[in-house]
Amino acid sequence: MIKELQLRILPEEAANEQALKEVASRETGEGVDSICALRVLKRSVDARQRRIYVNVHLRVFINEQPDAAELCGYTATVYRDVSQGRPVVVVGAGPAGLFAALRLVEHGLRPVVVERGKNVRERKKDLARISREHLVNPESNYCFGEGGAGAYSDGKLFTRSTKRGPVDRILCLLCQHGASPAILSDVHPHIGTDKLPGIIEQIREQIVRSGGEVHFETCMESLIVKDNEVRGIRTRTGAEFQGPVILATGHSARDVYRWLYEHHISIEPKGIAVGVRIEHPQALIDRIRYHRAEGRGEYLPPAEYRFNAQVNGRGVYSFCMCPGGFVIPAASAPDQVVVNGMSPSSRGSRWANAGMVVEIHPEDLMDERLMMADSVARSPLGLMYFQEALEKTCWQNGGMKQTAPAQRMTDFMKRRDSASLPLSSYSPGLVTSPLHRWMPEFIALRLKEGFRRFDGVSPGFLTNEAVMIGVETRTSSPVRILRDPETLQHVALQGLFPCGEGAGYAGGIVSAAIDGERCANSVAEYFGLSR
Ligand SMILES: Cc1cc2nc3c(=O)[nH]c(=O)nc-3n(C[C@H](O)[C@H](O)[C@H](O)COP(=O)(O)OP(=O)(O)OC[C@H]3O[C@@H](n4cnc5c(N)ncnc54)[C@H](O)[C@@H]3O)c2cc1C
Repeated sequence: MIKELQLRILPEEAANEQALKEVASRETGEGVDSICALRVLKRSVDARQRRIYVNVHLRVFINEQPDAAELCGYTATVYRDVSQGRPVVVVGAGPAGLFAALRLVEHGLRPVVVERGKNVRERKKDLARISREHLVNPESNYCFGEGGAGAYSDGKLFTRSTKRGPVDRILCLLCQHGASPAILSDVHPHIGTDKLPGIIEQIREQIVRSGGEVHFETCMESLIVKDNEVRGIRTRTGAEFQGPVILATGHSARDVYRWLYEHHISIEPKGIAVGVRIEHPQALIDRIRYHRAEGRGEYLPPAEYRFNAQVNGRGVYSFCMCPGGFVIPAASAPDQVVVNGMSPSSRGSRWANAGMVVEIHPEDLMDERLMMADSVARSPLGLMYFQEALEKTCWQNGGMKQTAPAQRMTDFMKRRDSASLPLSSYSPGLVTSPLHRWMPEFIALRLKEGFRRFDGVSPGFLTNEAVMIGVETRTSSPVRILRDPETLQHVALQGLFPCGEGAGYAGGIVSAAIDGERCANSVAEYFGLSR
């Protein structure tokens, strides 16, 4: 017999399988020994009130064993041999490119993936060099390399997409390639930076096993265009790859945006959000969010937060919060400082960090408080130039290394220099810097008001123990590559499928993966195959 239960239970009752079995036994009236297996279908922590509950949707197998698909929670996709299939060039091995490639295989097409960076293991050595030696390899860093920008991240899989079908499909594919099935039931699923590389490798192995190709350290320099149709790409070393092109190069491939602009391939500016990373002790966030002086205790996960406010017509919000995480140096060129966040699957560090960013629209570049020249402000690449300028200013204020400029939160509010900084997870190191003085007022004033309001909602958030670290600029693409909403091909060039975050059609790992699949489906249609 199978029963489904909607439970609202204490954290200690949801802590492990045995505890859950006892709850299930109590609720069903069956003996614990007759409960053969449990499957958690959904799980979330409700910390809105002083008394904290865990909501669990549970499937209980009584005197009956679940079948294999029930046990693992998904049905595996079968991939065919495409070694003789028609080639499709996929530029970029981020989530968009990798999931496009997997989907192409399902359609019987042969993905040829080209990636400027190194494979996900080799890449790790370059990340260590950023922290230790302050050397940023412009081809292999936190943004470039196998797995893309999301490879060394928190691996949060939360998406605003309300289309459950495509989201669940991506989560199942991640499980099939090694992710924990817990991501299928957690309301805020995450994988962790220690687990992501193994999953990415399994995806690559699947592509290659099926007859696809993956080329590392292979940078696309230009598109091959004939009669308004993209026929392939040319790399920096002059090699050519033929086929329609899924362009999934991410939001940091500024050379790609420049090339498109210079070759009059339609793009338009797209709003972004810019600000700082803020870091608190995790224990403090636990006390605030769980309303308990003793913190999260033994059974609750490190607390998360999400804030949002409108200040003078622009959104101010927390972005990519990493409980128990690390602030990381995410620059993709040597003379920049850019910060971001990641956490391991345990979320076990002493710190909590999040981006705190202010929305900027293309027309805002004309605001004198953003300090851009008119000619720059009017360019379709204006917001990209703005990101570059801010990242360079940050580098200059951070000591012209990967050390990052930082200021205590309360000092920022009071517009005074920080005499000292709290301990931080940012491994290249922090230098004290008056962010309130050099950050554009457009951003600084809104951040200040945002912090005041967030502290109103969660008293204690605005604290001397928190440090602001500059700058968070890579929240999304500053450019949209225009595509037809039906065919997903570029509006002026057949055979070119702008894809993922860099093209302006996704934000985050899951939505980029979904867009990758959609583009692969459109390529199949382009070849006259059914979706
Ligand atoms: C540190 C960090 C943490 C993050 N944490 C999360 C998180 O927890 N959850 C979440 O949902 N999102 C997170 N994000 C955002 C997420 O990673 C991106 O939204 C997502 O990776 C976008 O996928 P994409 O495939 O469109 O682009 P990308 O992941 O940027 O991939 C683009 C790929 O193209 C390659 N490329 C670029 N130019 C060329 C070229 N000319 N030739 C060949 N290859 C090229 C790049 O090297 C890169 O591998 C994080 C981002 C960062 C940087």
